[in-house]
Amino acid sequence: MNVVWFRTDLRIEDNLALEAARQRGEVIALYIATPDQWQTHNDAPIKLDFWRRNLLELEKALSRLKIPLVCAQAPDYPGSIEIICSALSVWQADSLHLNAEYPLNEVRRDHQVLSAARELGVEAVIHHDQILIEPGSVLNNSGEPFKVFTPFSKKCRVMLQLPDRAEKLGPNSSLGVPEAIKGQKPLEELGWPAPESRWTDLWPAGEKAAREKLKHFCSQPVAGYKQNRDFPALPGTSTLSPWLTSGVISIRDCWREATLSHSGEGPETWKNELLWREFYKHIIFHYPHVNMNKAFRQELDSLPWRYDENDFKAWCEGKTGIPIVDAAMRQLKETGWMHNRLRMITAMFLSKNLLLDWRWGEKWFMEHLVDGDFSANNGGWQWSASTGTDAAPYFRIFNPITQSQRFDAQGDFIRYFVPELSELDEKSIHDPGMLKPAEYPLPIVDLKMSRQRALAAFKNNKF
Ligand SMILES: Cc1cc2nc3c(=O)[nH]c(=O)nc-3n(C[C@H](O)[C@H](O)[C@H](O)COP(=O)(O)OP(=O)(O)OC[C@H]3O[C@@H](n4cnc5c(N)ncnc54)[C@H](O)[C@@H]3O)c2cc1C
Repeated sequence: MNVVWFRTDLRIEDNLALEAARQRGEVIALYIATPDQWQTHNDAPIKLDFWRRNLLELEKALSRLKIPLVCAQAPDYPGSIEIICSALSVWQADSLHLNAEYPLNEVRRDHQVLSAARELGVEAVIHHDQILIEPGSVLNNSGEPFKVFTPFSKKCRVMLQLPDRAEKLGPNSSLGVPEAIKGQKPLEELGWPAPESRWTDLWPAGEKAAREKLKHFCSQPVAGYKQNRDFPALPGTSTLSPWLTSGVISIRDCWREATLSHSGEGPETWKNELLWREFYKHIIFHYPHVNMNKAFRQELDSLPWRYDENDFKAWCEGKTGIPIVDAAMRQLKETGWMHNRLRMITAMFLSKNLLLDWRWGEKWFMEHLVDGDFSANNGGWQWSASTGTDAAPYFRIFNPITQSQRFDAQGDFIRYFVPELSELDEKSIHDPGMLKPAEYPLPIVDLKMSRQRALAAFKNNKF
């Protein structure tokens, strides 16, 4: 018997661990929920519910291959290792297959699982399914990992071929009922948060939904990606991030589909974004300190961050008095997702204009994002706070009002998420001043003064 342990790879198509197990013979699929760990990692209820709904779809897809999905619950990662060992013994497994996850806790957990499995005499194999190129193999001429995106992406493009698709194999001989294991529970009883019905419409589960989205995006919108991707009121980006983060679609399928779309600059620009995703996964792998709440540029950990609860609350609630920031923060709360341009604007506003510790913002995003992903979120926050891998210097500070005028020129996005400003014209909506309605706040910070404050903080930092 061959066991596949599913985590953030909730699909059957082009799944390297699943295909490797199927090549060896009969397969049992295993999923272990770890609610205490979810809490420690600040996983958002909307994301956990997305996992639950995708697991239900995965169970159906696996049953068509006559592969049973066994679910179990442990409080945390150490508990999940005990469950794996129980499953391998009870099922007399020959092999265990898992797709690598790259944050440090997950890497440590998987090392322990692999050695525990091998001690039991089980062949244990880890597959690099989440990324295009295995970490450790994209290095500069001195054999070092890259610290900056552009040379990393150039090297990747030289190394990357059109990726192969995992082979399609036949089903198990019969859908048996595997013997019960430690911690086993029905899928619906794994400690999920209470679901909200609107989440299902916003983020439909399953591989079919993900593939249709990818096909649609690569059939036409990708051609205009370069021109449209920065405008939050336009459907200019793929919105595939929740499915990619949960592994409901494979990164190789995305790369392949974009390459085969042959529609000019758009797909190449989109593939560059897929490489940003890749880059941040390589960063957390090569630089473990970023997994420990530390700045990538550790000398910047001594910056005099502010810890003002009132300013933070106004930012979280979308009540800063800066319309584009407020619209973006409300989009996050209402939908579990935020446009990339707005993630940069809101993150820079928090870390530069408010000079609040970027880790507060990073945590808030994780607690609310349906696509919350440690590497992309940490990378995006550190890029915005200038503590990370950004090649540009710290004095790049977006002015949120200028950004708003440029990327939401008509104010359509603001009007949608901040309805109290909907009567304002396209000029005043970005910076209403005295034209603001009574219920909308005045700006909580002066943009000019706060920019100077941030510049001084970076300049005077004793490093
Ligand atoms: C402060 C901050 C926090 C972020 N947090 C996350 C997060 O938790 N999870 C997440 O998936 N992305 C995160 N991003 C990156 C990016 O904002 C989202 O991936 C993107 O908005 C998702 O929308 P999309 O699927 O339409 O992207 P598209 O523009 O269609 O891009 C395709 C895919 O490429 C990847 N991608 C695109 N841009 C980036 C990027 N800058 N960094 C890494 N991957 C990228 C995503 O997987 C995305 O789905 C963050 C960015 C910032 C600035």
